[in-house]
Amino acid sequence: MEERREVLEVPPRYPNFEQTSVKKFWDALEEGKLITTECRKCGKVEFPPKMICTSCYSDEMEWIDLPLKGKIYSFAEMDVVPSGFKPPITVAVVELENGVRLFSHVINAGFEELSVGDEVEIEFREMSWFDYRKHKYFVFRRKGD
Ligand SMILES: [Zn+2]
Repeated sequence: MEERREVLEVPPRYPNFEQTSVKKFWDALEEGKLITTECRKCGKVEFPPKMICTSCYSDEMEWIDLPLKGKIYSFAEMDVVPSGFKPPITVAVVELENGVRLFSHVINAGFEELSVGDEVEIEFREMSWFDYRKHKYFVFRRKGD
């Protein structure tokens, strides 16, 4: 009897960005742009991008560019970090110039050096995502350093 072998494609542990409705967001990151969605009906701007407005439930969303400057809204030091990072790292919620808040890693300032209100700029870095692919993502750089 002939041995039957089936080759199974092992699915990634996380969604494949190519197959999601936010593919445009990931494509923009590759080009060094940060985009999100704005509701055409009520004007709500949300991050991360949404296909349906969480305020009025409209699906009439459009893509907009986000400003690449903001201020530290809150921050913390992480001693237990995702793979690929060397602890400790400083993470922050930054409020962009248009009021949208984002969470990421501060690359050039430790916890003791940061203050709420510090000005930051967004930079794009290649990161190893989920152990199986590289992708660009955004990080914060404190201005003046
Ligand atoms: Zn809306």
